Amino acid sequence: MICLGIESTAHTFGVGIIDDKGKILANVKDSYTTKKGGIHPTEAKNHHIEKADSVIQNALKEAKLELKDIDLISFSQAPGMAPCLVIGMEKAKEIASKIKKPIIGINHCIAHLEIGRELTKCKDPVMLYASGANTQIIAYEGGKYRIFGETLDNGVGNFLDGFARYMGMGFPGGPKIYELSLKGKEFIELPYVVKGMDVSFGGIQTNLKQKYDSGKFSKEDLCFSCQETVFAMLVEVSERAMAHCEKKELLLGGGVACNKRLQEMCIKMCEERDAKCFIPPNSVMVDNGLMIAWEGIIEYKSRGADDIKKLDIKPYERTDDVKVKWR
Ligand code: AMP
Ligand code: MG
Repeated sequence: MICLGIESTAHTFGVGIIDDKGKILANVKDSYTTKKGGIHPTEAKNHHIEKADSVIQNALKEAKLELKDIDLISFSQAPGMAPCLVIGMEKAKEIASKIKKPIIGINHCIAHLEIGRELTKCKDPVMLYASGANTQIIAYEGGKYRIFGETLDNGVGNFLDGFARYMGMGFPGGPKIYELSLKGKEFIELPYVVKGMDVSFGGIQTNLKQKYDSGKFSKEDLCFSCQETVFAMLVEVSERAMAHCEKKELLLGGGVACNKRLQEMCIKMCEERDAKCFIPPNSVMVDNGLMIAWEGIIEYKSRGADDIKKLDIKPYERTDDVKVKWR
């Protein structure tokens, strides 16, 4: 069985193609970026409308397949920005109707976890999912992927992008902050905000902006200190979730998990508690269609297709709303 999966929760329009043995046939994407300022939902939506057909065609070309060879269509149904989600769903419905094949809607956060398990071969991890809009510590307990800790406000990626934007850099800002952090020399103390198992970035954001405006600190030192502080917060809650669930594997996911410093800190924490850190390739940690295609196959086998007439987007669905019948 071959599945074509469409991702469109936010900035990326992605298409992946995979078969039910896990053979990767294509993973193509086109992401909306800006030189200055953040993601504008309508602009992101227009980006997806403009690029959808060429991304689909390029994925088919990469896989050396035609639409008629596809057996199943999946799409990211949740969570995300409604105007963006709609474009992916409409394209998925269009293709499914055209080739008369089943269609299935997928939760994006769970897709990150399952593609990570498939590609790194970890079994039962705690996942640190650190992306633009989402920051969650997720693990499988009692028939669901439960959220053991999460952000109380922004996702860590949006937080990094927001600070970068304030300093005049475009989207995405995370990689730019990383580059500057490498030249940082002095650690500047910032608020460290862990509340129980949750984290919050709003206060740190304000504090960073004030420090930046004061002109007393270099951009490099601020970026370095910002990363050290917020990544330590994420590692702390991940470690506590591992201890609580008695799990020995940490899996990384989300665009921010591409950050080498965050990876280094996670690996060190795992070593110290005799656990293992699993880091999937960057191509599936950022938003991508491949994970949607793979999750399509997994869920189709366990619950069958969705009814195309009743299908709609679910912008606010949470990771723990989904019943996990395939484990
Ligand atoms: P996602 O929403 O999972 O596709 O991730 C996008 C987010 O990841 C954006 O907020 C980026 O700024 C962030 N990001 C990507 N690469 C890096 C990096 N190397 N370091 C920190 N953040 C990053
Ligand atoms: Mg994501």
